[in-house]
Amino acid sequence: MFKSLFFFSFFVYSFTIVAQKNDQQNYHPPLDIPLVLAANFGELRPNHFHMGVDFKTNGAEGLKLYAIEEGFVSRIKISPYGYGKAVYIDHPNGITSVYAHCSTLIGRLDSLTKLTQTKEENFEVDIYFTPKDLPVKRGEVIALSGNTGGSTAPHLHFELRDTKTEMGLNPLVYGFQVADTKAPEIKGLKVYALTEDGYQIPNKSFIKTVTKGKFGYYIGGDLLQVPSDYCSTHGGIGFAFEVVDFFDGAPNVCGLYSSSLRVGKDTLFQQRINQISFENSRYVNNHKDFKEYSVAKRKFHKSYRTKHNPLEIYPTKNQGVLPISPRDSFPIAFKALDTKNNAAELKFTLKVSDGPMNTTETIFPNWKYFHPDSSYHIKSEQVEFYVAHHTFYEPTLKNLSTKGTISLGDPSQPIQFPITVKLPIKKGLTNLSTYYISVTAAGGKVRPLKTSFEGNWFSAKSSHLGTFQIKRDTIAPSLIPLNFTGTEIEITKSRLTWKVKENQTELVDYDLFIDGKWQVLEYESKGDYLFFDRPQGMLGKHKLELIVVDSCGNKQVWTKEIFFK
Ligand SMILES: [Zn+2]
Repeated sequence: MFKSLFFFSFFVYSFTIVAQKNDQQNYHPPLDIPLVLAANFGELRPNHFHMGVDFKTNGAEGLKLYAIEEGFVSRIKISPYGYGKAVYIDHPNGITSVYAHCSTLIGRLDSLTKLTQTKEENFEVDIYFTPKDLPVKRGEVIALSGNTGGSTAPHLHFELRDTKTEMGLNPLVYGFQVADTKAPEIKGLKVYALTEDGYQIPNKSFIKTVTKGKFGYYIGGDLLQVPSDYCSTHGGIGFAFEVVDFFDGAPNVCGLYSSSLRVGKDTLFQQRINQISFENSRYVNNHKDFKEYSVAKRKFHKSYRTKHNPLEIYPTKNQGVLPISPRDSFPIAFKALDTKNNAAELKFTLKVSDGPMNTTETIFPNWKYFHPDSSYHIKSEQVEFYVAHHTFYEPTLKNLSTKGTISLGDPSQPIQFPITVKLPIKKGLTNLSTYYISVTAAGGKVRPLKTSFEGNWFSAKSSHLGTFQIKRDTIAPSLIPLNFTGTEIEITKSRLTWKVKENQTELVDYDLFIDGKWQVLEYESKGDYLFFDRPQGMLGKHKLELIVVDSCGNKQVWTKEIFFK
């Protein structure tokens, strides 16, 4: 307890310093076209909040990206996933700026990256630099915009972070101005019966449609009728609101920045997304109504929090659980705001029906539910599970089966920390690396898990609850030339592209050797292709060898002699 208090006060202190310094900032824009947003900071995404802003790049790649302030390149990360090619610049004011999904790095950023790639014989690198290696001036071109990594359309994903704590900061609060005259829009309201810890009582929630009228937002009859059995002696009710926001110059649907929920004159709950730590970003699964998001793609922000929600986006100590009794009546006002203070407001009267309260004593019995406060070690002859405490956001149905079909938990529920699963290795199995554990989660989707073997057990970590099985992959990834037929002997193209496909597990290694020498081969995971950009001076006859390997060690080799013209 003492340790966490200390950490908390340190965080507040350092964060205040950054905020003060930053108020005086006037950054160079990262693009030389008007800054138009495709996405804002804090948007609800699968398993994370959006940790930056997405600037539009006119639907094209190759726009110049500028350092927003002087400083030095502290990190370059190259990956076929996530941020793709990303540049991190540390500035003297204690802020780090991040430029992601780049197509090309410029000058020494590019040459030093290729040097490390060649040395490590790996396209995927994560390089840290000292202030002397790559100093940059304000407004210096550092890279060209692109669509690499997890990006699905060309844009610049741009972030600001506190250099010391790596806290993600909302660029629209910390120095970046984007035209915004459009107010947020409120689309729905959800009510839940909650325990005193903010846990949802099963089968006691409902949605009300919110409509925009002449005088603001309303629900039918301006009345919210709550059944009397939503009342219990411990706990109360909570709300979630479906809200979206828009910016000028684009129709893109963005996320809610700030809100307050009042009951009469009292503030019941508040949200303000100024900063989110990367460590806590996965708690988005707890902040949003997970079911509405995963089933209907609706973005409800909860206006209350469960007992163990550590997110930094609530400027209130309140939990947001409203105690109610039969025949109660309250005036409720919900206000949504963007960073320019454009507002949307919804007002209604909450009325609780007359009738019996909920008198169930144990809502989540231990035999039926896993609890967020507990850790679990479950062992049988056929399986071993390890579950750390605070893995579950709410009490979760056990659905435990340790014989025959192996399963744990409600597959539609998210978890914060991966669980460890161990399944026994049957006698006589050989080539153990070709076996892996799979998890079948909600919707029947089967996911391979990175599996190791220790003693008599296969072992894996799973970020999903569901059914676990041992599977085998003995088939190598397929590999075919894409922009040349493969039968040509002479090639004039400067870029060679191959289609690579791994059907069961994952592609983990891909290496191109020319005359035995390793080359930088880029992997584009979205379209499943590999490409090689031939340096200008590479001419004449060469022997190409391309090797791809999946996570079960299955290897595919493609070789050819080619005459470059
Ligand atoms: Zn983004």
